[in-house]
Amino acid sequence: MNVAIIGGGAAGFFAAINVKENYPNYKVDIYEKSTKVLSKVKVSGGGRCNVTNGVETIKELSLAYPRGEKKLRKLFGIFSNKDAYQWFENRGVDLVTQPDNCIFPKSQSSQSIINCFMDAAKQSNIIINYKKTVKQIKIENNKIVLVFDDDILIYDKVIVATGGSPKKKGLEWLENLGHQIENPVPSLFTFNMPTESITKLMGIVVEKAQVNIQGTKLKSLGPLLITHWGMSGPAILKLSSFGARILNQLDYDFKVQVNWINIVNNEVVRKELENIVIKNSNKQLSSIKPYQLQTRLWKYLLERIELPLERKWKEIGKKGLNKLITILTNDVYQVEGKTTFKEEFVTCGGISLEDINFKTMESKIIKNLYFTGEVLDIDGITGGYNFQAAWTTAFIAAKLL
Ligand SMILES: Cc1cc2nc3c(=O)[nH]c(=O)nc-3n(C[C@H](O)[C@H](O)[C@H](O)COP(=O)(O)OP(=O)(O)OC[C@H]3O[C@@H](n4cnc5c(N)ncnc54)[C@H](O)[C@@H]3O)c2cc1C
Repeated sequence: MNVAIIGGGAAGFFAAINVKENYPNYKVDIYEKSTKVLSKVKVSGGGRCNVTNGVETIKELSLAYPRGEKKLRKLFGIFSNKDAYQWFENRGVDLVTQPDNCIFPKSQSSQSIINCFMDAAKQSNIIINYKKTVKQIKIENNKIVLVFDDDILIYDKVIVATGGSPKKKGLEWLENLGHQIENPVPSLFTFNMPTESITKLMGIVVEKAQVNIQGTKLKSLGPLLITHWGMSGPAILKLSSFGARILNQLDYDFKVQVNWINIVNNEVVRKELENIVIKNSNKQLSSIKPYQLQTRLWKYLLERIELPLERKWKEIGKKGLNKLITILTNDVYQVEGKTTFKEEFVTCGGISLEDINFKTMESKIIKNLYFTGEVLDIDGITGGYNFQAAWTTAFIAAKLL
């Protein structure tokens, strides 16, 4: 039996190594179109490779995937984040879990993962073929024929691990086999706000901000980072992931509503502010910051609603109080465009999950053809979830059932 893996990335290597563990006698060949393998692993997590996430339950784990949540939930029962952790540790890659649950190699270098994969591939005689782009797949006499520019090779079983394609055209060779393609659009990006002056507060992080996209049901809660081009941080990246399709349809031109204090009940906020008025009536607005807001942000918000910084709290008036409540709980900014998050970006879209048998990762359309990793319409938020999807789908595809 001979098996081809198309794509020498995270999913491709994980699949190849596991095929060899399951079937030591099978011949396994990886085909990689570029001159390097594992190049995304190398740069991942800022060069440290966030291999997975330490969330406790499979439910929590699956909730990190705007695309693929339900299908993955079942697969995680077979190979979860805990199994991935064990898999690497068993192969000598020590891992550490950060307080935010992101898991990295103890060495703090993605090279540890690459070395682990390259050593395993060498030991089990996996052949890595560089500069070999699969252009087309054909089926002849129940065998799978891989068509390259200069070659045609025949295999019993093939695992496609070609990663995300930013354009639908890049998936045409798989569409031609009868697979449906979910149109690819970017995910995990930050928001550009070229016309908003808040960018002058760059560097400020608000730990618990609530963010909504106006006119949609999209919302998230978490740390928000103000950057010199707009907004970033986990709350924004999560929105970009869950809203990948909608925001693409809006052509990245929309309004974002920020609740800086994570309190939705205006009356609760009013009471808190009225208490400040009573206790600090003679103090200036700028000197007493509600909800421990950072000084620069507090002053900026006061300026935004045209309340003079030196005005006394007792002089704020009903109108001033209302303006303050609104700016704290529903501050609106215009987003015009996006910037790719350099630490991690992925493609939403790919091979439709409808065309995959999730017990085996085999195509429902072509027998003996399996799919794993980002080529599928599966993607997650930041935090090691995208690699976890690659490990899990590759582990199951490698059973070659
Ligand atoms: C900068 C950056 C940082 C990231 N950091 C993290 C992180 O820390 N944690 C995390 O979980 N996720 C991270 N991600 C996401 C993660 O890297 C991907 O989700 C993951 O690499 C997907 O693995 P894959 O094997 O499916 O695809 P890829 O890693 O993209 O590998 C696909 C391979 O297939 C090859 N290929 C494509 N087409 C063909 C063809 N026709 N023939 C032959 N070869 C082909 C490609 O050249 C490539 O080598 C990051 C992404 C980026 C861009």
